[in-house]
Amino acid sequence: MRKYIVAGNWKMNTNLPEGEKLAGDIMSLLQQRNFDLTRYGVIIAPPYTHLYRLSQIIDNSKVRLGAQNMGWEEKGAYTGEISADMLLSVGSEYVIIGHSERRKYQKEGDELLLKKISLALSKGLKPIFCVGEELADREAGRHFDIVKSQIVNVIYHLVPEDMQKVIIAYEPVWAIGTGKVATPEQAQEMHAFIRQIISDKFGNQVAQDLTLLYGGSCKPANAQGLFEQKDIDGGLIGGASLKAQDFVTLLDMLIEAKK
Ligand code: PEP
Repeated sequence: MRKYIVAGNWKMNTNLPEGEKLAGDIMSLLQQRNFDLTRYGVIIAPPYTHLYRLSQIIDNSKVRLGAQNMGWEEKGAYTGEISADMLLSVGSEYVIIGHSERRKYQKEGDELLLKKISLALSKGLKPIFCVGEELADREAGRHFDIVKSQIVNVIYHLVPEDMQKVIIAYEPVWAIGTGKVATPEQAQEMHAFIRQIISDKFGNQVAQDLTLLYGGSCKPANAQGLFEQKDIDGGLIGGASLKAQDFVTLLDMLIEAKK
């Protein structure tokens, strides 16, 4: 069954006390809500340094923890890297792979991302795999080709049972952190396209069960139109996930839209 999810990507924001406060505020707002945990999910991806502490203060039945990245090898001489085992040992259940900021600043490409996603899955971490085109690609009409190649070069190498553990986030790069959100129609069109590509390779059932998130300047002011689209199953939220009230409002809006 398809699950509807709001996932907060805190990026390189908050020190530990600030992160404890934000997680605490999110928890107190969630405590006032009852939602069907088999249909809806909340994930927060704080900085690595917060994971262990937050795993102790969140109520795991309502919020799951994710990391924003992980190393591509199992262990060894990779100074500064964080392994899948390390993430699991501090309570992480999800890991964001292929975020556009890592594709851009760390030059992460398909080959590396395939290594990371395969390793994450082999260890039992659930990947949130990000895809999305740059503004120039969209303006040149290449956006479908770009997103298809990002999926074919990585996701198509997975076996179907692993694919069922993957969440895909469509994040048009031109909409991330820019305040410029994709229209519901633009997002729906791409989400339907992605679901079709997944169906072509893994079959209709896997495609229908896939959680497909939209990311890119999504906030309470613009989420309703997005969440009402039939192939948009929630959001990967950057800026708005740093405000507890906005983040939890997005969950409320998602639940309302998918009733
Ligand atoms: C993101 O970084 O995944 C993101 C969607 O950021 P923002 O919501 O700030 O655009």
